[in-house]
Amino acid sequence: MIIREYTASSALNRSGMKELEYTLNPYSGCFHGCVYCYAIDMTSKKEAADNWGEVIYVKTNLLELLKKEVIGKKRGMVGVSSVTDPYQAVESKYRLTRDAVSILLKNGFRVTVQTKSPLVARDVDLFSRYRETCDVGMTITTMDSKVALSMEPHAPSPVSRGMALKKMSESGVKLWIFAGPIIRGINDSREGIEKIFNLASETGARIIYDTYVPYKGASELMSRTLNMEGKSNTYYTDKAWQESIRNTFLEFGSSYNVRINSESEEWLMELRENFRTF
Ligand code: SF4
Repeated sequence: MIIREYTASSALNRSGMKELEYTLNPYSGCFHGCVYCYAIDMTSKKEAADNWGEVIYVKTNLLELLKKEVIGKKRGMVGVSSVTDPYQAVESKYRLTRDAVSILLKNGFRVTVQTKSPLVARDVDLFSRYRETCDVGMTITTMDSKVALSMEPHAPSPVSRGMALKKMSESGVKLWIFAGPIIRGINDSREGIEKIFNLASETGARIIYDTYVPYKGASELMSRTLNMEGKSNTYYTDKAWQESIRNTFLEFGSSYNVRINSESEEWLMELRENFRTF
């Protein structure tokens, strides 16, 4: 594992996603090394993209930049993060995510955090204090640790993520589970999906789900690491299969009384629309 520190030119970036005004990425590259990661195609650091999961760049001047940027920028919804995991292990040393989220919330921005790491629960005090203007999403693609290991080789176990959700739930943090990507033949069993609903029901989390999109970098990495048996991209994007996944989520959403949103992330869009300070 290689860690490289560097100075960036900006902290907040305009988001191309309709549900966010800005994104903030304290790191570039990600040690979790998920084989389906879309960020491989979007990371600006070639060394990190070419050696996915092995190299991470740390924006050492992030807080300095952010303190200046929050003065002049319009308030809006900030996604932390979009192309890296903001609570991967290096965060326990650098604490950039914690301090950046704190600056944003104190200055009237709305923050939505997404991670696969139980380290996020370290900052439960912050999320709880600003529960009206922040929410935390935990990605859980499966509760089966063997399947998780094949898809997300260096990410913390799903059980530890579930425990972090429970801790934050007890403190009244607004929570959601990102159940995605659901990959055909890998983590798409009804039983597996039902376990995610069990956790959502226990923690009061919403579910946002998504099915796999075969981006170039992820397709290459998946074909090297998972047993793809020569399946083409169309196998993974089959409309009838996508419809059956949608029906499974709708059915469990109803039987577990868990609110669900599809990959269009309407709920985050709704939060953004309801958060207008300008
Ligand atoms: S945690 Fe997110 S950013 Fe990191 S490798 Fe996995 S999918 Fe990519």
